[in-house]
Amino acid sequence: MTTSTTGFASLVSAEALAFATDVHGCFIDGQRIVPAGATIDSIDPSTGSVITQIADADPVTVDRAVTSAAAAFAGDWGRLTPGKREAALHRLADLLEQHSAELAEYDALEGGKPVSYVEAVDVPLAVEQFRYYAGWPTKLTGDVVPVDTPSAHVYSRKVPLGVVGAITPWNFPLCQAAIKLAPALAAGNTVVLKPSELTSLSSLRLAELAIEAGLPPGTINVVTGQGSSTGNALVTHPGIAKISFTGSERVGRVLGAAAGGSLKHISLELGGKNPNIIFADADIPAAATAAATTAYFYSGQVCFSGSRLMVERSVLDEVLEIVQRYAQALVIGPGLDRASTLGPLASDQHRDKVEKYLDSVSATKASIPFGGSRIAGDGYFLEPTAVVGAADSDAVITDEIFGPVLSVQTFDSVDELMIRVNSANYGLTAGVWTNDVRKAHTVAQNLQSGLVWVNTYADYHAAAPFGGFKNSGIGKDCGFDGLAKYLDTQTIWMSLA
Ligand code: NAD
Repeated sequence: MTTSTTGFASLVSAEALAFATDVHGCFIDGQRIVPAGATIDSIDPSTGSVITQIADADPVTVDRAVTSAAAAFAGDWGRLTPGKREAALHRLADLLEQHSAELAEYDALEGGKPVSYVEAVDVPLAVEQFRYYAGWPTKLTGDVVPVDTPSAHVYSRKVPLGVVGAITPWNFPLCQAAIKLAPALAAGNTVVLKPSELTSLSSLRLAELAIEAGLPPGTINVVTGQGSSTGNALVTHPGIAKISFTGSERVGRVLGAAAGGSLKHISLELGGKNPNIIFADADIPAAATAAATTAYFYSGQVCFSGSRLMVERSVLDEVLEIVQRYAQALVIGPGLDRASTLGPLASDQHRDKVEKYLDSVSATKASIPFGGSRIAGDGYFLEPTAVVGAADSDAVITDEIFGPVLSVQTFDSVDELMIRVNSANYGLTAGVWTNDVRKAHTVAQNLQSGLVWVNTYADYHAAAPFGGFKNSGIGKDCGFDGLAKYLDTQTIWMSLA
C-alpha cells in the first residue's frame, strides 16, 4: 500500500481547471445564471483545499428553473417528434464521449475517485444511458383495449409526467445525472436536476453540452445547493410532477413523506448493505479477489458495494488472505493521480462517520485484522479495512458504512445463511459464489435483493433493471422499468355508435 498527495491544480488539465475554478451559478433556460446570495465551498477531498464556490440556490432561483422546464415541456422539447428526440439524445451521448476525459476530471477532483476508473467506468456508463434510452421514444406504443362495448374504440397511450425534479448523490455524479436524465427525457419530460452539493461540476458541464447538442433551452436545468435549502425548494415546488431521488435511506424517507403530502410521483433509489456470499465449492481466488475489489472500489462509497462478505467457515482463512493481499497492494492517493487506485473519502465529516463505526468495534466480539487508520495529511484518506466476526446485530453489519470497510462473517449452512441475510432491512444487491448450479439458483431466487450476481459482481448495463427491495428503495433504474417510472398512461374511450 503506497500513498501520495499533491495539489489539484498540477494534476488537472488546463481545460478542466478553467471550468472548475470559474464562477459557477445554476444552469437555467440554456444559460449560466449566478444567483445572489449564499455559496458553498466545493472541496477537493484529496487535499482539503477549496476548488471553487457553487451557488446555494434559493427558492426564487428554483422557481425560475421549474418555470423554464415547464415552458420547454409545453414547447420545444415536449413537441419534438420521437425520431428527433432520439437524435438529440444520441448527439448528447456523442458529446459526452468526446468530452469524457474532461468530465472524468470533475468527478475525480470533487469526489476523489481515481480518474482512470472514472474514465473507464462512470463516463461510459453515462454515455450508455443516453444511447440506450435514445432508442425508446420511437418504440413507446399504447394498446387497443378489447372492452365489452361493441361500438367503443378504446385505446391507451403512454404520456410523460411533466417536469421531473431529479436529485442525485455525490458518489456517481455524472453517472447518476445520466441515469435520471436519459429515461426522463426519452419519455418526453423536462428536468430540473439538483446534484449533490459536494459534486456539482460534471452536472453543470453536462447541461452546457446538452445545449451544444441542440436540446432546447429549459429541457435540462441544473440548480446547485444544499439538500435542506435548494433540494427542499425543488421537492416542495408545485410545478414538479415527479421526484426522482437517489441517495440515503434517511433522506429518502423525508422525500417520500413530502411526495405523499403533495401527491407527486416519486421513485427512491437508496442504500444497501449487500451480502456477498462465498461457498466453499466456489473458485476461491476469483471470488475473494472480486470480494476485495467491490469492497474497496471507490473507497467503498458505492451503493452496491459487497460490504458484507459472508464466507463458508472452512474457506475463511484462504479468502481473508487474498482480500488482505489485494488491500495492501492498493495505491492510496489523489483521485487525479493516475497511479492512485484508492482515493479519499468524499468529505471530512463522512470520514468521521466511517471512523465512528470502526470505533464501535471495540465494544463487540469482532476484530480488525488490517486497516482502520487514517493516512496522515490534509486529504480524507482511510486505509482499506476489514472487520471480522461481528454479530448480525452489530452496527457494522446492519448499517451502510459507505467506506473502505469490509465486514466479514462466516456461515455453516444454506438454511442458516438465508435466515440471517434475509432478516436485514436493506435489499439492494447480493453476490453468490458457488460451482453448484442448483445451489446458485436456489439461493439467488430466495435472496431478498433487487439484483443478485452469480459468480460475478457489480456488472451493470442500461438494459438490466437495477434497484432495491425493502429499505433500499422504490422503483428501478435501467431497462423499461427505468423508463416506465417517467411515464403515465392515458386511456381514450371513443364511441363509434
Ligand atoms: P444523501 O441522501 O445525503 O443526499 C442525496 C441528495 O439529496 C443530495 O443531492 C442532497 O443534497 C439531497 N438532499 C439531502 N437532504 C435533502 C432534502 N431534505 N430535500 C431534498 N434533497 C435533499 O446521500 P449522499 O450521501 O449524497 O449519497 C450516498 C447515498 O446514496 C448512499 O446511501 C448510497 O447507497 C446512495 N446511493 C444509492 C444508489 C442506488 O442506485 N440505489 C446509487 C448511488 C448512491
